[in-house]
Amino acid sequence: MTDTPLDFGDPADLDRLRRRFRAWLADHPLPERLPDEPVPVFLHRWHRLLHSGGWVGLDVPVQYGGQGLSALHQVAISDELGACRAPGVPRIGYLAHALLEFGSEEQRRRWLPRMLAGDDVWCQGFSEPGAGSDLAGMSTVATPHEDHYTVRGQKLWTSYAQYSGLCLLLARTDRSAPAHRSISAFALPLDRPGVTVRPLRAANGDDEFCELFLDDVRIARSERIGAEGDGWPLAMTTVSYERNALDTGHLSKYGLLVERLRRTARERRADLPDGLLSEIGRCFVDYEVLAAHARRRTAERLGGQLAGPESSIDKLLMTRTEQRLYETALKVFPEEQLRGEEAEDEERAGAGELFGDYLYSRAASVYGGTSQIQRNIIAKRVLGLPSGN
Ligand SMILES: Cc1cc2nc3c(=O)[nH]c(=O)nc-3n(C[C@H](O)[C@H](O)[C@H](O)COP(=O)(O)OP(=O)(O)OC[C@H]3O[C@@H](n4cnc5c(N)ncnc54)[C@H](O)[C@@H]3O)c2cc1C
Repeated sequence: MTDTPLDFGDPADLDRLRRRFRAWLADHPLPERLPDEPVPVFLHRWHRLLHSGGWVGLDVPVQYGGQGLSALHQVAISDELGACRAPGVPRIGYLAHALLEFGSEEQRRRWLPRMLAGDDVWCQGFSEPGAGSDLAGMSTVATPHEDHYTVRGQKLWTSYAQYSGLCLLLARTDRSAPAHRSISAFALPLDRPGVTVRPLRAANGDDEFCELFLDDVRIARSERIGAEGDGWPLAMTTVSYERNALDTGHLSKYGLLVERLRRTARERRADLPDGLLSEIGRCFVDYEVLAAHARRRTAERLGGQLAGPESSIDKLLMTRTEQRLYETALKVFPEEQLRGEEAEDEERAGAGELFGDYLYSRAASVYGGTSQIQRNIIAKRVLGLPSGN
């Protein structure tokens, strides 16, 4: 295990939790991926196994299926998983927070326990062909009727919709109101008549993305989350948790790679050009800055602060750290561009993932909001600077 830069608060309590989790992991190793099993299906099995041990939703109140502990406990579990190269806890924290903050009591009790258990798999239907960064410009419309809405429009880049049962959907419910007050959020069952989910193949061969066509889909009023017009604040809450550095296990994964680079730089000092040594140095600095920032954010979260626009700083630091790290690692280990699956020695265990991780790191400056948009948010909402022309 690596050092654990996020341990503070009550170290004894966290240490107990980490030890209990490591013991559980020893008895419940990552299951084998079945031949031809799609990655999301495999990860869903892992999700259910983690949930069976009580390791999902640690910071969600008990009455909604969680463990009623703090964000720090959930962070510690993500960190442990990252440190042993296991897939992280399922990335549902940001959806859970949206439901916790905006759902009615009845909705939280209906959806949260099933979401945490993996009984319902959710996807996020925000982006559209003409509305990504400019989400407020979305054109999907939910026309209100007495007891339901009919939804028409199209969503794009909806990750893993083909494996999901429910979609957290944004649609415009009032075309006359200003954009930020005219959007509402819904829990849309994807087997509803009028919904078509069409997967798209990405450059790295994954079929993560989907298009979602919504052709006069009926949604009950009871499936609207929050009040009519609450969709914008709900979306901002969702993305601010999505951009958060704490919940992902990325930090410990980056830490492992930084350590591997550092060891290699010492051992192969004579063969590595100076330029590459200095790139390794920069990776180390990026990682340290991110870890220090994550520590501060953890303290804020423990103090009760919600994620908020400062999450854009997390997102930028994670993106910079991740992209530089994988780019540098591929220069130091160029052979891993060509092969990798069959890592034979301990040192290279997990190395086969390097090229895939590198490819995916290119998307980090786009998903969850692009880097340019994060800078705009920091300028306007964190620093309070006036809008440029
Ligand atoms: C791996 C991955 C997974 C995703 N999963 C989902 C998902 O599950 N659900 C979902 O709803 N969406 C998802 N997305 C979509 C993602 O949220 C959008 O791609 C992102 O918000 C950018 O929108 P866009 O692609 O339409 O680009 P655009 O908004 O068209 O932007 C194009 C370029 O213009 C720049 N730009 C735009 N506006 C400004 C501005 N005001 N100032 C400066 N620069 C600007 C952008 O930074 C970008 O470089 C995913 C994307 C990726 C890559």
